[in-house]
Amino acid sequence: MSRRRTAAVLVTGSEILLGRTQDRNSGTLARSLDAHGVRLERVVAVDDREEHLRAALDGLLADGYDLICTSGGLGPTHDDRTVAIVADATGRELVLDEPVLAEITEIVTGYAAQRGVPVERLLPGARKQAMVPAGAHVLSPSGTAPGVIVPGATTIVVLPGPPTELADVWGRALAHPALAEILGAQLERRILRIWSTPESTVARAFDQLGGDDHGTETSICATRLEVEVVVRFPADAREAGNRLADGLVAEFGDAVYAQDDRPVEQRVVETLIERELTIGTAESCTAGMIAARLGSVAGASATLRGGIVAYANDVKTTEVGVPAALIAEHGAVSAEVAVALAEGVRARLGCDIGIGVTGVAGPSGGSEAKPVGLVHVAVVGPKGAVETLERRFPGDREAVRTNSATAALHLVRLLLADDAIRA
Ligand code: ATP
Ligand code: MG
Repeated sequence: MSRRRTAAVLVTGSEILLGRTQDRNSGTLARSLDAHGVRLERVVAVDDREEHLRAALDGLLADGYDLICTSGGLGPTHDDRTVAIVADATGRELVLDEPVLAEITEIVTGYAAQRGVPVERLLPGARKQAMVPAGAHVLSPSGTAPGVIVPGATTIVVLPGPPTELADVWGRALAHPALAEILGAQLERRILRIWSTPESTVARAFDQLGGDDHGTETSICATRLEVEVVVRFPADAREAGNRLADGLVAEFGDAVYAQDDRPVEQRVVETLIERELTIGTAESCTAGMIAARLGSVAGASATLRGGIVAYANDVKTTEVGVPAALIAEHGAVSAEVAVALAEGVRARLGCDIGIGVTGVAGPSGGSEAKPVGLVHVAVVGPKGAVETLERRFPGDREAVRTNSATAALHLVRLLLADDAIRA
C-alpha cells in the first residue's frame, strides 16, 4: 500500500488568537482530510502580522508535509496578505489571472448594484484578489476571494477565512486534478458510542484486544455521558478493524447504544416518529434547551408537541401542575419534582412522553445538600414507564445545562428501548 500523505493546516486571523472568534476551519479541514485518507499532523494558528505568517509558513514548508492548507487573509484590502506571502515563500511572482478577474468583477458588480454603491470603488479590491502566484491553479470564489492551489513538493491550498466560503472552495480543491496525487483511498471506519462507561474501562478493553497493532487507527473520546470510539482502517486492514470493533461490542453489550454519527436527539426524534409517539418537555434548569435540541431535527413537528420553561416554583405549579406541597417537602431540585414535571407536562400537553428537568446550574444557588451541578431528570412514558437520573455534573453553568439536556435525551432513548412501552 502507498504511504499515507501528510498535511498541516495554517489558520490565520488575529481575532482567533484574541479568542474573539472560534476557529471552525481547522475542524472542517481535519474531518475532510481524514475522510480522504490524508493524515493531518499539525494545526498552527497565527495572527495577521506578516512576519508571523511568513515564519509559520516557512516552518511548515521545511517540515516537508505533502499538503498545507491555509485559511483566511484573502480579502480585498491590503492587510489580507496570505496569497502574497505564499507566492513569496514559494519563489513565485504574483500575476493577474484574467479569467478570475472577470469572475470577481461580475460578483462585485452584483454587490454594488444591490447596495447602491458605485462599482468603481470595488474594482481595485477585485483586482487585488485576482492576483495569484504564477503557475498556481485558481479555484472559483464562493464570496469574492478565489482559492489557489500552488503545486510543488509541498502542495499549498490557499482558502478564504469565512467558514462557509472555506468549505465551498475546499470542495472545489478536492475535485481538482492537482490534488488527485495527494488524496488517498478513503479510510473505512467503525463508530461505537458507549453509554455511561468510564473512558479508562474502554481503553483497557481496547488494549486487551490488541490495540492498533494491526493497521488500524483508533480514537477514544469521552464526554460526560458517553465514550465515542472511532476505529479507522484502510481496506487491507478491514479484518483487523472489524475484529477490534466487534470485540468492543462483545465486551460492552447494550452499553454500545449506537454505531453511527447521528446525534442522540436525531435518534430519539426518528424513533418517536417511527413509533408514532409524541413528546413534550417541562424544563427548569435547561430552560428550553431540550425542546430546542428536539426541534433542531428535521421533521420534529411530527413528534414534538411543545415545551414549558418552568423556572419559578409558582410556574411549576400553575403551568405544569406540580403540587406546591411537593416542592415544599422535597425542594424544587429533587427526583420527586422532576417526575412531577414530566408527568405534568405529559398531561398538560397531551403527549405520550413527558420530560422533566430540575437542577442547580450554578455558579450560585448551591447548598451542602444540593450542590452546584446537581441535576434530576425524569422521563415518563405510556403505561407508567419512568426513567430517572440523578447526576452531579462538574463544570460551569453552560456545561451543567448542556449535559443535563444530553442526559434527558439519553433517558428518552432508554425509555424507548424498554419493551414495556412498546405497543
Ligand atoms: P474577507 O474577504 O472576509 O476578509 P478573508 O479570507 O480575508 O476574507 P478573514 O479576514 O481571515 O478572511 O476572515 C473573514 C471572516 O471569517 C471573519 O469574520 C472571521 O471571523 C471569519 N473567520 C476567519 N477565519 C475563521 C476560522 N478559522 N474560523 C471561524 N471563522 C473564521
Ligand atoms: Mg480578511
